[in-house]
Amino acid sequence: MYLKEIQTYGFKSFADKINFEFTDGINGIVGPNGSGKSNVVDAVRWVLGEGSNKELRASDTTSVIFSGSKSRKPLNSAMVNIIFDNTDRHLPIDFNEVSIKRILYRTGENEYYLNGEKCLKKEIIELLTDSGAAKESFNIIRQGKIDEILSTKPIDRRVIFEEAAGVLKYKKRKEEAIRKLDRTNNNINRVNDIINELESNLEPLSKQASDAKKYLEYKDKLDDYDISLMVHDINNYSNELNSCKEKISEINDKITELNKNSASYDISILNSKNDLSKVELEFTKNTDKMLMFTKELEQADSDIKLFRERSKYVDKDKDKEKINKLKEDILLNENNIKSIDGEISLLNKKIEVIDSNIINNNSKYNLLNEKVIAINTNINDNNRAITDINYKISSLEENINSGGNVPNSVKVLLNNPLFTGVRGTISSLISVDNEYALAVSTTLGGASNYLVVDDRKLASRMVDYLKNKKLGRATFYPLDVIKGRNVDNDSLDKLKQAKGYINTLDKVIKYDKKYENVIMNQLGNVILCDSINNANKISELINNRYKIVTLDGQVVNVGGSITGGESIKTNNVISLRYEVIEYKNKLNVLINQNQDLLSEVAEYNSKLKDYEEKILNLKLEKSTLENEIGIKKKAIDDAINVVNDLNKELKDIDNISGNNTKSAEDELVKKYYEIKENIDKLNQEIESNKITKKKINDDILEIEEMSKNSNMVTQKLEKELHEIELKESRIEVKIDTLLNSLNEEYNITYNEASLKYILDDDANKIRKEVNKLKDELKEFGVVNIGAIEEYERINTRYEFLTKQKEDLSKAEDTLLEIIGDMDSVMKEKFEKSFNEIRTEFKKVFKELFGGGNADIYMTDPSDLLNTGIELEATPPGKKLKSIQALSGGERTFTAISLLFAILNVRPVPFCLFDEVEAALDEANVDRFGDYLDRYRKKTQFIIITHKKRTMEYVDTLYGITMQESGVSKRVSVKLGEIKK
Ligand code: ATP
Ligand code: MG
Repeated sequence: MYLKEIQTYGFKSFADKINFEFTDGINGIVGPNGSGKSNVVDAVRWVLGEGSNKELRASDTTSVIFSGSKSRKPLNSAMVNIIFDNTDRHLPIDFNEVSIKRILYRTGENEYYLNGEKCLKKEIIELLTDSGAAKESFNIIRQGKIDEILSTKPIDRRVIFEEAAGVLKYKKRKEEAIRKLDRTNNNINRVNDIINELESNLEPLSKQASDAKKYLEYKDKLDDYDISLMVHDINNYSNELNSCKEKISEINDKITELNKNSASYDISILNSKNDLSKVELEFTKNTDKMLMFTKELEQADSDIKLFRERSKYVDKDKDKEKINKLKEDILLNENNIKSIDGEISLLNKKIEVIDSNIINNNSKYNLLNEKVIAINTNINDNNRAITDINYKISSLEENINSGGNVPNSVKVLLNNPLFTGVRGTISSLISVDNEYALAVSTTLGGASNYLVVDDRKLASRMVDYLKNKKLGRATFYPLDVIKGRNVDNDSLDKLKQAKGYINTLDKVIKYDKKYENVIMNQLGNVILCDSINNANKISELINNRYKIVTLDGQVVNVGGSITGGESIKTNNVISLRYEVIEYKNKLNVLINQNQDLLSEVAEYNSKLKDYEEKILNLKLEKSTLENEIGIKKKAIDDAINVVNDLNKELKDIDNISGNNTKSAEDELVKKYYEIKENIDKLNQEIESNKITKKKINDDILEIEEMSKNSNMVTQKLEKELHEIELKESRIEVKIDTLLNSLNEEYNITYNEASLKYILDDDANKIRKEVNKLKDELKEFGVVNIGAIEEYERINTRYEFLTKQKEDLSKAEDTLLEIIGDMDSVMKEKFEKSFNEIRTEFKKVFKELFGGGNADIYMTDPSDLLNTGIELEATPPGKKLKSIQALSGGERTFTAISLLFAILNVRPVPFCLFDEVEAALDEANVDRFGDYLDRYRKKTQFIIITHKKRTMEYVDTLYGITMQESGVSKRVSVKLGEIKK
């Protein structure tokens, strides 16, 4: 291997591109002072990676770039490229030529190239280490530095011996191994620290994890039981509900049947009473008749007696006169009878009128009474509905007080003492008139249960909490993050003109200013409008840019799509309050209705009383008239009796004055018996009348009793019905609540749940079990669910780190072993090389000086790895002196001896000497030249010199000049001229 060529451009005084080609023999470079010869040495050292500014004779890194001269501008970069012949593969790289290039820019940026490929400085240094061409090597000797080797400290001198021994690469590897060892040690310490910390965490965590597992196990079991129980309860309630319904229809049927019966009882009673009055009439007639017959009988009896008395005395003339008087009286009385009769029929007419008046009032009374009954039924129905609605309202209010149907995940965060800064669900922060409740509730939809919290940090804590406890999901609105949204002013201007536009939703509700951003975010850009038709028109007007919602909850979405139909039951606080108010409205309607009905009933009742009074008065009037008639009839009867008496008297007088006394008597007796017979018959009839009357009365009593009983049963049934209906609505609410719980707490429908969760044991037993589980879960206190994963994670890490620690310890051992190996190789090589150099040094010194003695020794032979190297030299004929006392030439020559001694032991590919022989006299220059000649086969020399004597030993010679000031130029020098 030898240095074939140096190319440079921009380095120090080489402002132009310049190159030097060298042979593998001895090459010389000559030129005047300051022409740039030493810059060649600097260039070679620089390209091999020299970094010390002092060594490069530079004030700073970039000052090696051509800095300009009077006639030249400075350059922006410096480049040096050296090319080695590597046909002998001295460098461990499979190329015949190896080029190494370095470029430095004014920016301070360095680039290295190996055979044209960009590479790292480190790669170049590694390639050259122990090749004899490295920058530590002694093969490049700068101007005036030849005797440096004598003046440096023993320990610094060592590096040349190390290079010569070829142990630098081991030294570097050892240093690397020590660095690695250090790093490994640090890693072991770090891993140890972590392991210790993990160990201290692992134990409590393992307890927490096992607690959490147990907790989850219990919780799963509890959920399982809870859902099964709910399904079981729903089934039971459904059955109960069905039986309630059956019972209700059964009772209703019974009541209808009873009502039918009750009507038929009333009719029967009416009929019987009718019959009774007929019988009573007949009875009265018969008793009247009896009275008459009894009188007639008495009359007949006295007639017979009188007749028999009178037959004893008869006076014919007087009789005639008497007869006339009698006839007169008879006539008088008969006229009287006729006139009374006329009066009676007048009175009867009056009674007829009164009767029809009574019937008329009676039917009015009945009509009104029916109405009152109907109204009373209506009132009862309303009362039932009022109870029902009140129940519903109280259950809704209960629901509102517990925050509405909030998902469980949100419920556990509300009023949770772990978290401060929870403001509530969005819907709970809003108050809204019922008119707008549907619109607001529909717009919020699921967002109504979003949680408003103070800040984002709290929200993420809560998310972690939900996650760790496996409590489901929730959405958070941190007040410090959420921004409000608005409808832009242009659109607002258009909206204000539009038909049906009411306002933006945020304007129709009330809320605390604190929550403005959250509210505006949800409702600020939603437009409220009266009807879906207008909503469509408005949406078109503002290019479908905002969501529009109608009072009844229909929605025109952004973009124009429409969502509508029946409003969805969201069960948030707003819609619950809406329902309560709707129910209360209904309640008011019913209550008002009942008040109206009651006053109507009162009015009707007073009218009924009026009718009753009227009828009573009519009846009184009628009975007065009847009395009058009775009196008149009595008068007629009296008159008839008088006429009869008069007629009898007349007849008697006739009979007595005639001769038919006997037959007349017979006639009277016959009549007497006829009357008697009539009385007997009549008695029988009266008796039968009495019996019939009693029977009908009994019947009536019996039917009345039955009717009363039936009414009691009806009342009882109605009460029962009312109770069952109450029970029915209670069960319905219970079922509803259970279904809701299934949905809200477990997110499962009844159908799914009933397929999956079947109660396989006695419900009461399970309920007890559930209570037990709940108690047990409570005893757990705060459970860290995350501990399961955390334990898993930390344990894995712990095991991993323990394994890593083992690996690191092994690596440490291996490194120590390697270092030990290196040390022994280095010691061996160093010692061997030292001894060889020592032998050679003694020899070469003698040869160069032509006598005298020199030696080298280790300052601490017991420590081969660190020992310094000391030098001794005694030129011929002199006493052993310290090397400091040598003359300049002696110093140079001693240093050259050592240099050549080393070259004997370890040949290097090339040597670059900058005026090393400057201090030598001509004889010594010759000896130096002879030595160079001896090595030319093994080593290439490039020698910078001013000495002609030296030039004589050279094969090729370059000249460097500085014709143009400040820029080095290469000129050719003819060897022949010099050698002459
Ligand atoms: P001598 O024979 O005295 O040792 P020399 O030939 O070795 O001289 P060098 O030391 O190589 O001379 O060159 C020094 C010259 O290089 C100086 O004139 C210096 O101005 C010039 N020089 C050094 N650095 C730069 C640079 N960055 N830009 C331009 N010129 C530079
Ligand atoms: Mg120089």
